[in-house]
This record gives sequence, structure tokens and C-alpha cells, in this order.
Amino acid sequence: MKRNAYYVGWLVVLLWACVHHRATTSKGGDKMEVKGRTDLSLETLKAKRARFKDVTVGVDLKEVSDEDKRVLWHLLKAADVMDILFFKQASRDGLMIYEDLKRNARTEIDRVLLELVEINFGIFDRLDHFKPLIGKKEKPLGASFYPEDMTKEEFEAFLRTHEDKKDAFVSPYTVIVRGKDGGLESVPYSEFYRDELEKAARHLEDAARETRDEALRRFLLSRAEAFRTNDYFQSECDWVDLHSYKGEGKSAVEITIGPYEVYEDRLFNYKASFEALVGVVDEVESAKLGLVASFLDELEANLPIEGRYKNFGRGQVSPILVVNLIYSSGDTKAGVQTTAYNLPNDERVREAKGSKKVLLKNVARAKFEASLVPIARRVLDPKLLDFVDFDAYFNDVLMHEVSHGLGPGIITAQDGSKVQVNVALKETYSTIEECKADVLGLWTSFYLIRKGVLPQELGKRIMATMLAGLFRSMRFGVSEAHGLANLIEFNFFKDEGCILFDENTARFSVVEEKFCRCVEALARRLLTIEATGDYHGAKSLIEKYGRIPVEVEQALRRLEDIPVDIKPIYSSAEELRRTMGRE
Ligand code: ZN
Repeated sequence: MKRNAYYVGWLVVLLWACVHHRATTSKGGDKMEVKGRTDLSLETLKAKRARFKDVTVGVDLKEVSDEDKRVLWHLLKAADVMDILFFKQASRDGLMIYEDLKRNARTEIDRVLLELVEINFGIFDRLDHFKPLIGKKEKPLGASFYPEDMTKEEFEAFLRTHEDKKDAFVSPYTVIVRGKDGGLESVPYSEFYRDELEKAARHLEDAARETRDEALRRFLLSRAEAFRTNDYFQSECDWVDLHSYKGEGKSAVEITIGPYEVYEDRLFNYKASFEALVGVVDEVESAKLGLVASFLDELEANLPIEGRYKNFGRGQVSPILVVNLIYSSGDTKAGVQTTAYNLPNDERVREAKGSKKVLLKNVARAKFEASLVPIARRVLDPKLLDFVDFDAYFNDVLMHEVSHGLGPGIITAQDGSKVQVNVALKETYSTIEECKADVLGLWTSFYLIRKGVLPQELGKRIMATMLAGLFRSMRFGVSEAHGLANLIEFNFFKDEGCILFDENTARFSVVEEKFCRCVEALARRLLTIEATGDYHGAKSLIEKYGRIPVEVEQALRRLEDIPVDIKPIYSSAEELRRTMGRE
């Protein structure tokens, strides 16, 4: 079956009649045409599918109150609407192809293709530069947020002559369409996606009726309102305040739903994509975070940098919440799954209310088991394998996030002016900051172990798990901040003699006695670069440590068949739908 070319063209043409009506009645739906065929063999499609390991993600519903279950049941329905909306945003014909395949998948190749279209929310491969799975046509940079024939230049030229329309055009919540005169027009999401948003709003209102938690109810109602008015400000503020209610009937539900990230708009990064994350708060981990938070000032006071660079009170700005996910939909479910997010993106809300960071613990566990454990088995000295565990991994994730809030924020630049670190470090900032968060995360963990706040035996598990984690991140490539940061850490630690490579076994190990000293040395380098806004220092650090050594290259090649990410199977959501639906 190697060269089994598969025609989708005929299938789509055949079904054109029944779907054509719906497809073109969606507002602004430019005339669609799906032509061509996939040149991909069944083997290739299967290999693409194998990059995502099916993993069950859920919670223990016995721990969830009946009241919350009723809320969740309505929220799942609202979340389903986000799937439809994001399908429509990601491409003009993805949803139609998906529905066609769903109804008519008969052969194995159909079924694998269907799964890939579902994972990618369309026919473009998100793990391979958006290469099409069907046909040859490339994915438009502006997805379906702009007219397909509109160029960047046309958009910019239009705004130069229509200054008054700028806000509406660059708004995250509008779609740009061709007007009758051939010019450009903006249409608010609330109009463009009216039917879907009305449906979602009603489900949110149904959920609001089920809860006694005032903060939750306030958010659900203001978000429903935003779906109808296109004004998201109040509901974004209310989202930051979720879980502030302390009275009877306090809810554990964490719900993120609406248009958020702008990455799908690769033309301008203006337009927000719809998504939903539905989960419940993890009380144990949240308590641990609360404990760590009480040490923030002490940690800052002991950071390995000069006293004058210390920056107190910064970490409190962005509270962290640990959540177990029950269901996700839309943008966040496409391709690689989200483990952590920091919202809202609206700077006005950040200024007025701050932001909130959410870590998804059960998703992190699923990823840990699907890829980190198999990676560890192939690259680590077997003696370390017993020490690779999820608690240590999640501890790293938590401390990484806490550490983003430690260290320099606004600094005095070399010319004496006050600037934000990211402005001073320009394009090197994300790499340096991610590297800092990793290394300070380690430093913080060992500090808290010495204080007796974290258990002594965690130390060795952190070292072993961190080493495997470096390979997991380097796999994602060094063209991206996290991958490059991990490469810098690897090379620095190896140069300083705290990571060893055994040429005979081709395995890596950690030198425990040297580890803390290495971490502190790199932390000092990074913090000093940030505190002094040393752009050239950042560049030379990246230059020196940002190269892939031969042994890493060889190791990464041995990892190629290990899944890159997971495809979540939401068991608790299925159970809720099944059991609540009967009532
Ligand atoms: Zn980070």
C-alpha cells in the first residue's frame, strides 16, 4: 500500500451538494473549493498519527460535588461550540472536510486522515510547518481571519487612509472581510459568529444557574454577555477573580472559555482564537504553591546576585493555580497540548487586575508518561532511571513558573534610563528568561530542600528528572526559546562538569556533588545579564552554549519514534455526558 494515492477530490465533490448550503451560509465564507489528493501513503499518515500518543486524561469524579458536576455538564456543551468556532477560524474548508470524512470514512486511510484532521483542526500539519495533508495548497498566513486574497500591504495601506477604523481592524475580536466595493471591512465576532456564540452564551447561563459560587456565576454571566456584545473587558477581570468566593457552595470549577491566543493569525498576530479549558482545582498542589509563595521574599533576598539588583514583591502579581483538566476544545486542543497558560492577554486587564497562571497537572502527567519516561530510558545512565518520577517533574514545572516571578523586572539600563528587561534584551529575552526560570527553579528547589520545606530525598529525583527533561525540550528544536534554553543549560552543565557523557554506553548522568554549584553559577550569569540589561552578554552566552554537540545530536536521533505529544481522551467528560445526560 506504499504508494496508495488517495483521492479526496471526488469525495468532496460528491458531498458538495449536501454541505454546500451550510458551508456558504456562514458569513464571509469565500467560495471554497477542495481539489486534489493526498500524495501521502498510509505509512506516512500513520507515522504522523503516531507522533501523538492516545492518553486518558481525567479526574476522580467522586471528589467533585454534585453541584459542580451539573455546572460542568453545561460547560462541556459550551466548550463543544468552541471546537466548531476554531475549526471555522483555522481554515475556510477544514470543518467541511472533517464532517465529510466523519460521515464517509470507510478505508483505513480515511480513518487515519480523519484523526489527523481532527488533531490539526483542518488539513494542515501543525507539527510539520503546516504542510497540507490533502492537496498542495498552503495554509493562508491569516487563516480565515482575513480575505484570502488580502496581502499585508493592502491591510496596512487601508489603515493609512482610514485612521478611524484602526481600532476595529486590529481588534482581537473582529474578522476582516471584503466589502461590496471590494474594499476591506471589519465584522465583530459577535456578529460574524452570532449563532454559535448565542448557543455558547446560553450554556454558560445554564451553568451559572447551577452554582452558588458568586465569583463563578459572575464570570459565566459576564462572559455570556461578552459573546453577545463583543466587549470582553469585564469578563476578563471576572476571570482573574474566579475562586475568590469563600462562602457556602464554593466551587472547584476552573473554566477558561472564549477568544484568547493570537498565534493562529500568522499574518499579524491580531486575531484571537476560540478555545475552552474546563477543569477542577487541585487542592493539594495549590496548598504547596501557597507554601512556596510565603517564601518568595526570602528567596529573592537570597538570589545569587548583588543585593542592589534584588526586586521584591514581584511574584505576587501573577497568582498560580493548579488544575486538573476535564475537557479542552478549540485552539488549545489543536496539535500540541497546553500544560500551562497565563491569561488574560489584554494589557488593560493586566494593569487593572493582574493575570492568572494555570498549570494543568493531569496533562503534565500524561505527557510525562508518554514521552519523558521513554526518553529517560534511552538516554540516561540506567542507575538514574529509578529516580525519574512525576513528582519531581511537576515540582520542576511549578518552580519554573514561580521563578518567572523572581529576579529583575524593571531595571536601570546602561545609559541610566529605566526599562523593562525584555526591552533591554530584545530578541534574546525569551531564551534568557526561559533559561533563568529553569535554572532558578532548580536553585529554588534546592534552597527549599535545605530549609526542610521540601523533602531531602527529592534532590536526587530532581537531578535525574531534569536531565531527561533537557532532552525532551531539545527535541522540540532550538529555533524556539524553550528548546534553546535547554540546550544552553545542557552545554553549561556539561562544561562545568556536572553532566557526564559515557562514550561506551552513549548514556548521560549527573555528578551530584557538583550539581548545586553549577546551578548557582548559571543562575548568577543569567540574573546578572537581566539585572544589567546586558544585551551583548546575552548574545555571547547564547552563542557559546547554543550549539548542538555531536552526542546530543546522536541521542536525539535515537528518540525519533517516541511520541512528540499526546492526544487526550477525556474520560471524565465522557462519563459526565453519559451520566448527567440521563437525568
Ligand atoms: Zn517559562
